[in-house]
Amino acid sequence: MRKQDMNMPDQTAENVNVAIPGDMKSEGVSRILISEQQIRDEIAAIAKELDEEYAGDQPLVICVLRGAVAFMADLVKEMSIPLEMDFMAISSYGASTRSSGVVRILKDLNEEIAGRRLIVVEDIVDSGLTLQYLLGMLERRQPKDIKVVALVKKDKPDAIDVQVDRVGFTVPDEFVVGYGLDYAGRYRNLPYIGVLHPSVYGGEAEEGDAGA
Ligand code: IMP
Repeated sequence: MRKQDMNMPDQTAENVNVAIPGDMKSEGVSRILISEQQIRDEIAAIAKELDEEYAGDQPLVICVLRGAVAFMADLVKEMSIPLEMDFMAISSYGASTRSSGVVRILKDLNEEIAGRRLIVVEDIVDSGLTLQYLLGMLERRQPKDIKVVALVKKDKPDAIDVQVDRVGFTVPDEFVVGYGLDYAGRYRNLPYIGVLHPSVYGGEAEEGDAGA
């Protein structure tokens, strides 16, 4: 990773902050894992693949709110085929850094999906519980097919075996924020993905549930 990609002076794991003075939104981020440029390049590659795979179709691209908003927006802008977008929100996390296993629909799709080709855009797959639930629900509505694109997947041996067709980046099993990913509602507007310093969430995380 080149330092100029990050626009940050220091990215060592020991530091609580990688923030440049005045950049308050990055306070508490201890290191940058994926730079803006890396995200941009990977999204361009994914968009190209999707353009090829869905040429002649008009897929429905489903954004899982709220974490996937940044990824979805950048991905669809890179795609050149006609498509539609829809949004759904399911709960999985609160002010916690662990999946609670509690999943419920906060906002359902507006569109009918029977017979349609779906591209589900996810921010991050951690335990896989959220995605497993979501896919089960979508499959019951009998779409033509479903492709799952996740920007980030955690390298986690005990994660459940769930369908993820395309992963942008595999990251270590640490709590990451930025580019849509939050901790307690913060950090979504970082243009990169970074590791949250454990001091921000008091070392060990607590269980909890609320909106993703
Ligand atoms: P899972 O059910 O454990 O796979 O968790 C999926 C959801 O939890 C994601 O869509 C995120 O909203 C959230 N999540 C999981 N890991 C992280 C993380 O490291 N940072 C921020 N959010 C996360």
